[in-house]
Amino acid sequence: MGEVDALRAAILDGAPGEEIGALELPESFRGAVVRADEQDMFEGMASEDKDPRRSLHIDEVALPELAPDEAYVAVMASSINFNTVWSAIFEPLPTFQFLARLGAESVWGARHNQPFHVLGSDAAGVVLRVGSAVRRWRPGQAVTVHCNYVDDQDPSSHDDAMLAANQRIWGFESNYGGLAEVALVKANQLMPKPAHLTWEEAAVNALCNSTSYRMIVSPHGAQMTQGQTVLIWGATGGIGAYACQYVLNGGGTPVGVVSSPDKVALLHGLGVERVIDRSADGYQFWKDEHTQDPAQWRRLGKRIRELAGTDPDIVFEHPGRQTMGASVFVAKRGGLIITCAATSGFSIEYDNRYLWMNLKTIKGSHFANYREAWAANQLVCDGKIHPTLSRVFTLDDAGAAAYEVHHNLHEGKLGVLVLAPEEGLGVTDPERREQLLPQITLFRRLSA
Ligand code: NAP
Repeated sequence: MGEVDALRAAILDGAPGEEIGALELPESFRGAVVRADEQDMFEGMASEDKDPRRSLHIDEVALPELAPDEAYVAVMASSINFNTVWSAIFEPLPTFQFLARLGAESVWGARHNQPFHVLGSDAAGVVLRVGSAVRRWRPGQAVTVHCNYVDDQDPSSHDDAMLAANQRIWGFESNYGGLAEVALVKANQLMPKPAHLTWEEAAVNALCNSTSYRMIVSPHGAQMTQGQTVLIWGATGGIGAYACQYVLNGGGTPVGVVSSPDKVALLHGLGVERVIDRSADGYQFWKDEHTQDPAQWRRLGKRIRELAGTDPDIVFEHPGRQTMGASVFVAKRGGLIITCAATSGFSIEYDNRYLWMNLKTIKGSHFANYREAWAANQLVCDGKIHPTLSRVFTLDDAGAAAYEVHHNLHEGKLGVLVLAPEEGLGVTDPERREQLLPQITLFRRLSA
């Protein structure tokens, strides 16, 4: 049996931590990579034609050396995030530029600057080894991994680590991410695995859940209060479906925007009563490439008022160019548009009169610091926030999964089995699972 198989077998057998920590590490492992010598492969093509199934490869890569503040994690499952899509279509830039910059920073950083980039910004698995400076974690512990990658010796990383000058997203701006049999992480990315979830359910939360926590709950974001109305674009998508849960948990009123009757039904299942089907309603915020249509903004605003009886205090914004004009328009006087992305284009246009005359604010948000990610993970552990896993792929099919996300063919989150040989494994609190099963499996049951 090879080393990777032996590690997998020990984990599946529930071997004690000392035994796992004593097992041989592999010299190499399988991971989903993009290759530097292919970074121009889609040149001249339209974004939608760039196919992650062509650029994502499952390659054997050498195990990098472990730094003192790091851990190796045996990845049982991972997930697809939109950043995997960006990396796989080499937009807006090939990620090798990020790796080169990290590589120039330090001896340890140099390990990341490779002609391949192991992608993936989520993981659930088991700690295999820890570096000499790691205090809180030990081999054998079941963990999830958040993707905020900061150098804690940099003063700017304290107070709010997302303000760190060298803040990065693991598996996107660093190498050796979660879509691989072994992941290389900093110890301050580790969090306990929710005991009532399977590996694949546990693997899909950290990136999107933490992002939505910061945007909706945290003082660094909107810090929503009870009774507030929140317009959520892409409300059954990766971040949107967690945002809906936070608004409901916090006593707010979500107004969810989606694009199909199936997604409307899914939102109702989630407990979101006020739903807008943007496809059925036919909103066309842009008349042509250069001109927006304020009449369509007004139509959306009217619809929100009909549904919620008020304008939204908060707009959860991420589609970007296609929707930002409408988002700024429909927000309540004094309201907040909180944005973390621009999927449909990052060059944004809105009518500034609606912003300043009505004292609205646009606020940027990006992932979450360790404290926020930990709080968001704790809510999953406590059964108050649930995974939005809709489908599961194997590592070999990571490219196909990324294709689905790129073309908006998915709902919630797509999981990826890595070392876990099948779905349904990894649960250590079956009683809590039984109690929460309808919520945990909602997206699996109701997604198309
Ligand atoms: P996702 O799973 O693809 O969901 C996005 C949703 O947005 C889709 O379900 C779709 O819903 C909606 N949408 C897409 N294009 C739209 C458009 N032109 N107009 C209106 N709605 C549109 O992706 P995600 O994981 O939620 O991520 C969304 C974006 O946030 C991505 O760009 C991602 O890179 C970014 N992100 C940023 C951070 C951060 O830390 N900064 C973290 C996570 C994600 P309907 O079709 O149903 O309306």
